[in-house]
Amino acid sequence: MSSKSMVSLDHIRDDFPILSREVYGRPLVYLDNGATTQKPKVVIDTLTRLYAGENSNIHRGVHHLSERMTTLYEEARATVRRFIGAAHDHEIVFTAGTTAAINAVAFSFGERYVKEGDEILVTTMEHHANIVPWQMLCQRKGARLKVLPLDERGDLRLDLLGEMLTSRTRLLAVTHVSNVLGTVNPLKEIIGRAHAAGVPVLVDGAQGVQHGILNVQELDCDFYVFSGHKIYGPTGIGVLYGKERWLEELPPYQGGGDMIRRVTFEKTTYQDPPLKFEAGTMHYVGAVALAAALDYLNGLGMERIVTWEKELTDYALQRLEEISGMRIFGRARERTSVISFLVGEIHPYDMGMLLDKMGIAVRTGHHCAEPLIDSLGIPGTVRASFAFYNTREEADRLAEAVGKAAKMLG
Ligand code: PMP
Repeated sequence: MSSKSMVSLDHIRDDFPILSREVYGRPLVYLDNGATTQKPKVVIDTLTRLYAGENSNIHRGVHHLSERMTTLYEEARATVRRFIGAAHDHEIVFTAGTTAAINAVAFSFGERYVKEGDEILVTTMEHHANIVPWQMLCQRKGARLKVLPLDERGDLRLDLLGEMLTSRTRLLAVTHVSNVLGTVNPLKEIIGRAHAAGVPVLVDGAQGVQHGILNVQELDCDFYVFSGHKIYGPTGIGVLYGKERWLEELPPYQGGGDMIRRVTFEKTTYQDPPLKFEAGTMHYVGAVALAAALDYLNGLGMERIVTWEKELTDYALQRLEEISGMRIFGRARERTSVISFLVGEIHPYDMGMLLDKMGIAVRTGHHCAEPLIDSLGIPGTVRASFAFYNTREEADRLAEAVGKAAKMLG
């Protein structure tokens, strides 16, 4: 590999004000992008501009500002629709984030379709956000949560999928990308096989949408959910994509303003999707700023982003593997820019704390995936997660710091 990458995106670091700050007197190396991503100026400026000069509640007023904000909000919906390749704007529901979106489906879908003795299928590699809402649904309904396991590389045991999809399976909920192992799941195959068994599929895209080029129509998933803050947008805004058919059939999961057509004490009628699922005042400023983030990514080019992130992750893996005692978790056939590791028996918290003192922000612990960590028989991992604004020099600094910390702790 040449020392200077052809696709490196170093020049865009100035777009992200926080990346030039220091911690403990050292330049920040931010490798906690799996937890949240940093924001480009265009996103920060959009938030400021809207609050400073355009703010007004949507869908409710005939006055100029309200109408304008409603237009911006609905344009943001169209931007999201184009970004994920959905067929219709009304298949895009804004939520507070991935967790909120999964809970929405668990309540709404669960209310309509899940009965005692039914089954919901998840996988061992799910984040708690894609386990607990289904567990709660199963408890409410007397249904059963079933779990598709992994192999030792970190790939799903698709050889077991056929027998786990039964006539009682009502839904399969699976992550696009593991936030611990970096595994990119073969969604097309999984969804095809689930559909052949008559089972709809919800994809947790919290770690997927920002690292690949997504087309929900090609995938043919029934639901795809993600968080704005993990794709360079603001916190508090996220997306629930649902196929038109589902959003029409499913009941609303929250009642309130905006989601209704007509209210009387005897009977209330609801709006059509997506408004049926958007009760109360939405984070409309956040939705517009999320659209600004997606436009920014499109401007850079998702293909370029994906290529650089792959090159950078491969380089970081190679550098980390040079360290004696290095244990990498996650060797899936297809993986993306999350690297989980331990060095020897060094506790992940000890490693994380020393790295922090050297200016390197990584995450340590179970990463909200306790069942997965338990299945690996370890106390947790150190997780370095890369974004396109990370550099080769940062990967070098990580490897050097891990080596140094390992010597101190080992
Ligand atoms: N699923 C996965 C795979 C995640 O990585 C995360 C965030 N760590 C979530 C769901 C939850 O996302 P949020 O907290 O933004 O709702």
